[in-house]
Amino acid sequence: MSCPRIEVDLCKIRHNTQLLVKRLGLRGVGVTGVTKAVCGHPGIAQAMLDGGATALADSRISNVQRLRSTGLTGPIRLIRTPMLSQADEVVQSCEASYNTEILVISALAAAAIRNGSIHGIILMVEMGDRRDGIFPEKLAEIAQQVRQMPGVTLQGIGANFACLNGRAPTAPQMATLSELANEIEREGGPSLKIVSGGGSANLPWAFGGHATGRVNDLRLGEAILLGVEPLSGDRIGGMHTDAFTLVAEVIETGAKPAPFPIALIDPTTERLLIKSAGGAPALMILALGHQDTDILGLSLPAGNVLIGATSDHFVVGTNLSPQPVGSEMKIQMNYNALMLAMSAPDIEVSLLDKLPSGPSECSKPELGHLAPA
Ligand SMILES: *Cc1c(COP(=O)(O)O)cnc(C)c1O
Repeated sequence: MSCPRIEVDLCKIRHNTQLLVKRLGLRGVGVTGVTKAVCGHPGIAQAMLDGGATALADSRISNVQRLRSTGLTGPIRLIRTPMLSQADEVVQSCEASYNTEILVISALAAAAIRNGSIHGIILMVEMGDRRDGIFPEKLAEIAQQVRQMPGVTLQGIGANFACLNGRAPTAPQMATLSELANEIEREGGPSLKIVSGGGSANLPWAFGGHATGRVNDLRLGEAILLGVEPLSGDRIGGMHTDAFTLVAEVIETGAKPAPFPIALIDPTTERLLIKSAGGAPALMILALGHQDTDILGLSLPAGNVLIGATSDHFVVGTNLSPQPVGSEMKIQMNYNALMLAMSAPDIEVSLLDKLPSGPSECSKPELGHLAPA
């Protein structure tokens, strides 16, 4: 097998999805699987669907096209407001898209009419994240405009939290989102199929005791893929955090005398210098670098520390006997490291999935933060 590679345990992704679907189902909330961190990888998306995700979502049309290229026919929604220049591609490959600009919605409507289809519109509401969204006081008016536009259908509303400002939504904010859904329907009749309450950062809210109100969907990427809650970084109880493993090969190894003259490296250059090699008696170099991933988002096996990295070399200090040249090291990734590694041209993605299996066939993960009561 080639190196570097990402090994993906599809069983763990199915398990994580299943667990979230089950727990959120009890709260009246469905799961949309977000595939952007895995660049719309069709096999990983299928594991989300097999785990019970009702739809898929991605922020880039190229990723959606990749999903479609393997024959996936279910609903796929674009969760970044479409580029005006891509309206035709969007209606051709997405069942619906999240939108904030009436100009773009008009272009989607025209493209849908050309395509002989109806495109679903979900309006994204700005509720304090300060990224994308329509201000709440404008929402009802825009909803009404969408309702009257041929070629599109108003499917729902959605909000985003903790993306730009890093703050989790509060229960009153979520109640406001429900109230906005009610307000739109008071004016135009019941029509909102989807009220999408946010991403993985909303799980503490969703698992908490508050009423979920009109919210019937969460768009989940990180929680499914890495089993963690993004704001705290804590493992979600019962979930696998090791569905993805980055495997890199050792290309140089051996003891180097201490004190190692690492201080000679100019810290003002782009080369990343994390810590001196002082504590670690031996060094290894892996064929991996900034070009492949976010080096600071990697976790090495116990006994190893990151000394530094350049575009193509990853220097590891070890307290263990150093691994031989040609051997492999298994590394865990955070979300940012995963996202970059999945899009790196030199990293192969290798799916591990011997059997079509249920959750019981993965090893049992530990309980922890946000575990079911
Ligand atoms: C990326 C993204 C999500 C998923 O976020 P996670 O934290 O990975 O669950 C949800 N909604 C939108 C609009 C996104 O861009």
